[in-house]
Parts: sequence; structure tokens; C-alpha cells
Amino acid sequence: MAPAPAIITIDGPASSGKSTLGQKLAVELGYLYFDTGCLYRAVTVAALQRGIPLTDAAAMAGLAAALDIRVQPPNVKDGRQYTVLVDDMDVTWELRAPQTDASVSVVSTFPEVRRTLTDCMRTIARSGSVVMVGRDIGTVVLPDAPLKIYLNADVHERARRRHAEIIARGEQSVYVEVLEAMQIRDRTDSARKAAPLRAAPDAHVLDTTGMEPERALAEIKSIVQQHST
Ligand code: C5P
Repeated sequence: MAPAPAIITIDGPASSGKSTLGQKLAVELGYLYFDTGCLYRAVTVAALQRGIPLTDAAAMAGLAAALDIRVQPPNVKDGRQYTVLVDDMDVTWELRAPQTDASVSVVSTFPEVRRTLTDCMRTIARSGSVVMVGRDIGTVVLPDAPLKIYLNADVHERARRRHAEIIARGEQSVYVEVLEAMQIRDRTDSARKAAPLRAAPDAHVLDTTGMEPERALAEIKSIVQQHST
């Protein structure tokens, strides 16, 4: 098979399939998989743990710049995609807590926080072939990426997926609350001034509503194939 583009970006809203499909694609290609949302989540968890007000732009910028965030291969077999250490503390599951979900899009509105994390993402992208997933990877972080994909799906289906994931982890979840939180996060991510969620003009847009993951992966692989030289 012809070599695939060295950098593949996948953007889209929460639970559009970015992480599952991005990771599978990266494994098949032998690329690094990097989920940029974990960086915004890591800053959010640190702020919540340290009692730093999430609306204090200067404090959040200082925190993002000072933190030592490490994303490593999974070191515990508990369903995690990777292990995230913040100043040497394992916060992998705190990243997925409802309180983090509810707070992260406020933290990601601050341009200074975004600048710090964007620099970090660009450094990772320079280190080798990568599938990088997020909200603004194709538009802002890596606008020259040779292949950009934008995944979308109906918000009710995305909320059902997230609800099922939480239940599968053995935690409590109320579907309407998940739906409402997702709608709020979609709105904040799309309406913010700095790097809002949107498809790059040259992105391949794929709507995964009603699609089994295998079918969505096949569609993505066919897009990759078309871009392989
Ligand atoms: O992808 P995930 O749901 O983990 O992202 C969490 C949050 O981080 C998003 O809702 C968004 O506010 C922020 N984010 C972002 N830019 C990215 C990745 C995530 O603003 N590239």
C-alpha cells in the first residue's frame, strides 16, 4: 500500500467517534495517536484540584504554562487509552469525570491557555507520523496537514454513546443530563472566539450518525487511501 500522509488530523464535537476511530486508524498505520482534548482536561483537573477559579484567565494561563503534563502508553489495564500524569500524579480517570466535562470548555476559551497547549501539540506533531484528534487541529494547530477529517454526528446519538460509555465503566449516568451537558459544551466550543470548533475548508466531512464503528473506520481508511501516494 502507498504511504499514507504523515499527519492526519481528526476534528469534531464530543463523542463524534474521534478517539475510537483515531486510535484504531493510528494502530493500523503504525502512527502515534494523540488526543489533544486530554491536555485541556488535564489543566481543568489541576485547576479543580487546586481550587483555582476557572474564570480567572491569568491564573489559568499561569497554570497551563507551569504544569508538567505527560501522556504515556497505558500503564494499567482498566480500559484507558493512555495514562496522563500531571506533575507526576495519575489523573487519567479524573479527566473523564462529569465535573471535568462540565468545566473543560470554559478553560479552553482562554487564548493564553490555548497558545501553551497548541505549542505542545505542534512539538508532538514534529516528532513523527501522527493521528491527532481535537477541535481545531486542522484549522489552527496544523493548518498545513496533508489530510484533515472532520467527524460529526447527531447530538442525541452522541449523548447516547457517551451515556453508554459511562454506564460501561460502572458509573451512574442520567441520559438527559449527559445530553444537556453535551449541548452546552457544543455551544461553548463552537461559539468561542479563539479557535472555535469547525471543519477546515479542505477537510473531509464524515457524518457518523447511525454508522457502526467498523463502517466509519472503513470510510476513513478509504479517505486515507485516496490521499496515499
Ligand atoms: O475531545 P474532548 O471531549 O476530550 O475535549 C475536551 C474539551 O477540550 C473540548 O470540549 C474543548 O473545549 C477542548 N478542546 C479544544 N481544542 C482541542 C481539543 C479539545 O478546545 N483541540
